[in-house]
Amino acid sequence: MDLAAAQQVLKTTFGYDEFRPGQKAVIEQVLAGQNTLAVMPTGGGKSLCYQIPALLFEGLTVVVSPLISLMKDQVDALNDNGIAATFINSSMDYREINLRLQELRAGDYTLLYIAPERLDSPQFIQSLGNLPIRLLAIDEAHCISQWGHDFRPSYLALSTAIEQLPTQPQVLALTATATEQVAQDICQRLKISPDKEVNTGFARDNLDLSVVKDQDTDRYILDYLSANANEAGIIYASTRKEVTRLVALLKRHHVQATMYHAGLDDDVRRQNQEDFLYDRVQVMVATNAFGMGIDKSNVRFVIHAQVPGTLEAYYQEAGRAGRDGLPSQAILIYRAKDIQIQHFFIDESEMDDEHKHRSYHKLQLMTQYANTQGCLQQFILNYFGEDSEPCGRCSNCRDDRTAQDITTATQKVLSCVVRLHSRFGKGVVAQVLCGANNQRVRELNLSELPTYGIMAGQRQKSVTELIDFLTATGYLQTMGGQYPTLAVTQAGVAVLKGESQVMRKTAQTVEKSVPVNDALFEQLRTLRHGLAETQHVPPFVIFSDKTLHSMCDLLPENDDAFLNVKGVGASKLEKYGETFMATIRAYVHQPATAN
Ligand code: ADP
Ligand code: ZN
Repeated sequence: MDLAAAQQVLKTTFGYDEFRPGQKAVIEQVLAGQNTLAVMPTGGGKSLCYQIPALLFEGLTVVVSPLISLMKDQVDALNDNGIAATFINSSMDYREINLRLQELRAGDYTLLYIAPERLDSPQFIQSLGNLPIRLLAIDEAHCISQWGHDFRPSYLALSTAIEQLPTQPQVLALTATATEQVAQDICQRLKISPDKEVNTGFARDNLDLSVVKDQDTDRYILDYLSANANEAGIIYASTRKEVTRLVALLKRHHVQATMYHAGLDDDVRRQNQEDFLYDRVQVMVATNAFGMGIDKSNVRFVIHAQVPGTLEAYYQEAGRAGRDGLPSQAILIYRAKDIQIQHFFIDESEMDDEHKHRSYHKLQLMTQYANTQGCLQQFILNYFGEDSEPCGRCSNCRDDRTAQDITTATQKVLSCVVRLHSRFGKGVVAQVLCGANNQRVRELNLSELPTYGIMAGQRQKSVTELIDFLTATGYLQTMGGQYPTLAVTQAGVAVLKGESQVMRKTAQTVEKSVPVNDALFEQLRTLRHGLAETQHVPPFVIFSDKTLHSMCDLLPENDDAFLNVKGVGASKLEKYGETFMATIRAYVHQPATAN
């Protein structure tokens, strides 16, 4: 069996012209009969690495994959491409399972998806033994390693299960997140020779990483969502409480949002997840319980409203943006107090001391990531043991703002706080500095203070923001609960004495993440949405955003042209070609309208 046959399947079944570099290497090894570990970034195209061999091999390919919801989507997508695939999971009763096994024994399917928990049952392993299994593909293979951040005990059963299978199937392990140690562990447990690891690196060229600091989280998120109003995204928070609060905030501002965390009923969770997958809501607000195995390809942004506990978890969650390869953003909103929340999680956990120690260390790295002045992508790749050049896209690479010396303005603010004897909050301080003339100021005779009106040229809002900045950076501190008052800290006193300088970069502004989609794209997206609802599959299963963009570029009006669209194979042409071309034709030939 050679690569030419694989190339053929790539084109006719999946509609792609070329393999990506890692895919080629992996498929070549798999077709040559070698156990293989594939380490490729999210969106790198891991699925094809086992789907194409499955179509070329005699016998069955079993895919071990961690989430039931993912399984259904993948199977739907394969069926939509004309491939005989099915799954067995805990949502089925034993009669259904037996029927399915019968069909599998008869060779009715090319691919079978199962959850790792199935392997906990010796009985199930026995029934697998009766199937003609040729290849075993293990997705999210890092879950087998206790060094990883997502260890799952059921994965450990894999190695024993493999030994018990009479067909001695070949193994292909796949993951997007593995430090060198984790990769070694996978190879050892699954009997993969270490030189059969194909690692394409962890860089994600279409992902722009950003860290946002010293800014009001709610304001930033609302601004971001209004600048990116049509795009789907995930917002991660650390606690259920914060998830609930954020969803309420978004709904108040008329953003279509839903939520996901471990405290919701199964049914509610499933429904919310589906609403997001099906593009019925724009934003998913979730704890880290959400996302493992979510392969929605058109996620345009992932915002972390709070800092996660490890860089691996961060990069994996961030990596859920842009699986379709289109430009996407991953934004970490950093506040020092969120680090304390993670600290608390570790303190309170049941881990042994050594494990806790490791976790504190991982958390420190997260803090360093948030505060580095260097390239963010480079920082992460370095963590995974990879050398690289600065990416040129992340918020640090793009940050050409020069820091300004704001020592004088700072001294004005701090001396005003001192003159007010630390008895007032930021509102009154800003009013005095700007020389406001309202009843409160008159009643308290504040206009007689020497600092009254010394910043009169500035807007009160920007003075308030300056006060926030000085609080975040530790020159001021707030005291008291509901109506906190301001006081000057030790660091602030040093500035007042002229012993130290204060520098500030101008505030980051929110950008639009991707170029505006044109009118045809919107029409095709609506068409896709309608079809998806009728067929009860997520929209990206029908066509990815990238495929729709490709249609907008090529404007195909006949079958041959339609087959040239990236992501269109014979089966998709037959199913959707006419419908989509009708919309394209109408768009291309519409009479020019005035204006
Ligand atoms: P992963 O599992 O590695 O995160 P997927 O297998 O889900 O990635 O693939 C991500 C996207 O890339 C999918 O939309 C897939 O159809 C697309 N894709 C995969 N291989 C190719 C290829 N050779 N050319 C173009 N697109 C591809
Ligand atoms: Zn960079």
